[in-house]
Amino acid sequence: MIFKNITDIKAAVEAYREAHPAPAVPAGEQRITAALCDMDGTLYDSMSRHSAAWFRLMTELGVECERDEFYLYEGMTGANTIRHLFKRAFDTVPTDEEVAELYHRKTQYFCELPKPDVMPGAQELIRFCVSHGVRPVLVTGSGQNTLINRLDADYDRAFSPDLRVTSHIVKRGKPDPEPYLMALKMAGVDASRAFVVENAPLGVESGARAGVFTIAVATGPIPRETLDEAGASIVFSSMPECAKFFPELLECLNN
Ligand code: CA
Repeated sequence: MIFKNITDIKAAVEAYREAHPAPAVPAGEQRITAALCDMDGTLYDSMSRHSAAWFRLMTELGVECERDEFYLYEGMTGANTIRHLFKRAFDTVPTDEEVAELYHRKTQYFCELPKPDVMPGAQELIRFCVSHGVRPVLVTGSGQNTLINRLDADYDRAFSPDLRVTSHIVKRGKPDPEPYLMALKMAGVDASRAFVVENAPLGVESGARAGVFTIAVATGPIPRETLDEAGASIVFSSMPECAKFFPELLECLNN
C-alpha cells in the first residue's frame, strides 16, 4: 500500500495481519522488539555512489549497461550482480576468483567517491526505535566495511555487532528471504515481532517473503509503485516521512 495519509497506517497493518495472523503476546510484553534495517539507500544516501562505481567498472569491462539499472540490483550481493551482468553481456560466468577481484575494484571505485551522507530521517527513526524497546538489526547485501564501520559513530552504537547480517554470512542474498530469516534468528524473534525497512525492490521482496511487515521507503529513482508491487506492506515517499509517521505505525503494530 502506498502511504497517502495517516488512516493508511492502520489499514496496512490490518492487511498484513489478515495475511499473517500473529500469535498472542504474553501479558505485559511489547509485541515489536526488532527493527530489521537495510543499509544502502536506507541508513545511508549511498546508492548514487554505488551506481556510479558499478557503471564505471562495467563500462571498463565492455559490459553494456545503464547508470540507473544498478538501482534494480540493489540488495543483491556484489558477486551476484557481477555474475548477472556477465551472463547477459558475454553469456559466461566468471570464476569466484575473478568475481572477488572485480568486486574489490568496484569497492575501490566506490571509496574514491565523496563519502555518502547519513540518510535524512534515518537517525530519528533509529533513535525512536531504541528508546521504545526495539533493537535495530542490520541486514545488508553489502560487504563493504567503508560504511559498516561508520555505523557505530553515525547511529550511536544502536546496531549491536552481534546483530548484523552482511554479505559475508549470507549465501543466497536478497531477494531470497534468507537474510531476513537470519536476522530474525539472530534477534531471537519470530516474524510477527519485527518489521523491515527497505528502499529497493529486491530487498522488499526478501522481507515480504520472510513474512515480516515490510516498510518500503522510496529514497531513489525507483517508483513507489514498483516497491508496492514487490510486496511492501506500506510505501513512504521519503525517510523523513517514514520517521514522522513511525510512532503511529509502531503503535498499530504493537496492538
Ligand atoms: Ca538498500
